[in-house]
Amino acid sequence: MQTPYYLIDKSRLAHNMELIARLREASGAKALLALKCFATWSVFDFMSDYMDGTTSSSLFEVKLGREKFPGETHAYSVAWAEHEIAEVLANSDKVIFNTTGQLSRFEEQSRDHVRGLRVNPGVSTSSFDLADPARPFSRLGEHDPAVIEPFVDQISGFMFHNNCENADFDRFDAMLNDIEARFGHLIRRMDWISLGGGIHFTGADYPLDRLTERLKRFAGQNEVQVYLEPGEAAITNSTTLELTVLDTLHNGKNLAIVDSSIEAHMLDLLIYRESAKVAPNTGPEEWMVCGKSCLAGDIFGEFRFPAPLKPGDRLSIQDAAGYTMVKKNWFNGVQMPSIAIRELDGSERLVRDFTFEDFTSALS
Ligand SMILES: *Cc1c(COP(=O)(O)O)cnc(C)c1O
Repeated sequence: MQTPYYLIDKSRLAHNMELIARLREASGAKALLALKCFATWSVFDFMSDYMDGTTSSSLFEVKLGREKFPGETHAYSVAWAEHEIAEVLANSDKVIFNTTGQLSRFEEQSRDHVRGLRVNPGVSTSSFDLADPARPFSRLGEHDPAVIEPFVDQISGFMFHNNCENADFDRFDAMLNDIEARFGHLIRRMDWISLGGGIHFTGADYPLDRLTERLKRFAGQNEVQVYLEPGEAAITNSTTLELTVLDTLHNGKNLAIVDSSIEAHMLDLLIYRESAKVAPNTGPEEWMVCGKSCLAGDIFGEFRFPAPLKPGDRLSIQDAAGYTMVKKNWFNGVQMPSIAIRELDGSERLVRDFTFEDFTSALS
């Protein structure tokens, strides 16, 4: 197969899916895939055996979920436009408004729909200001119980999304206690509560049993159906970006230029100033792996290899699914990576490749 391509490994995906299924069964919570993290629909049929549906950030994600992922479709957006709302309602099972202002604006149109409101508890686990829903002056949800109170008869659920790559169960538990203390009287008037995404419960060593017990207790004491909205947890470690070295040079360090670009194909790492991952990353040779765009800082990272890199060598960048494939772009006109799937029997199958026509049709 011609590099560059993203390779989704179904057996690695299945590992996460089985943990999600276990959590659902034991806790009674439902799990919706957050499409903003991962929207590669070729594996949705497979994932839908383990998950209950999807949640969204826009009209197009709502439609993608409805069309490609069997199960429930939750429609959330930071703001719906007037011209979108009819299609949002036609393609969703629930609509979640970000503010009481949006709820009021679309109250009449959405009267026969299951409706929810995003609540911002003002606490989070994000270590990046950029991704912190509870940052000062946050626009993400209503934060004041007194403001929410008058609207509770118009809705049947709340969505809280305040975790971010949170691998610490005790921190999750403490924040949920805090949410119950401040919003419990309103939560108990709801039928369903979504606790959002950002819980790293498919990670190694996560105390899944404690999470299960906590979710079950939350649902029981408040008499609500709990939803989770995993994005990263659903697809973590399932996918690689497969590359080939095109050239090497030396300028104080060993440099290898590959047939990809971090700016175009793994943008999230660049935004958060994180290194890409190469496994096993051992050996005597240290090389900086660089992208082929003309951006000076288009660098995947510095890694160790058993032998000097040379043109034609194949490299595999780890963990290339979440917030990665959804952000790929045509910067510099660099060949967009194809998408391939490694089936459970080990065979690899190309499901999409991108052409010059795809490049030109992205603009006009
Ligand atoms: C981003 C997001 C998610 C998914 O978050 P992950 O960290 O990828 O699990 C879920 N729900 C909402 C509302 C989000 O904005």
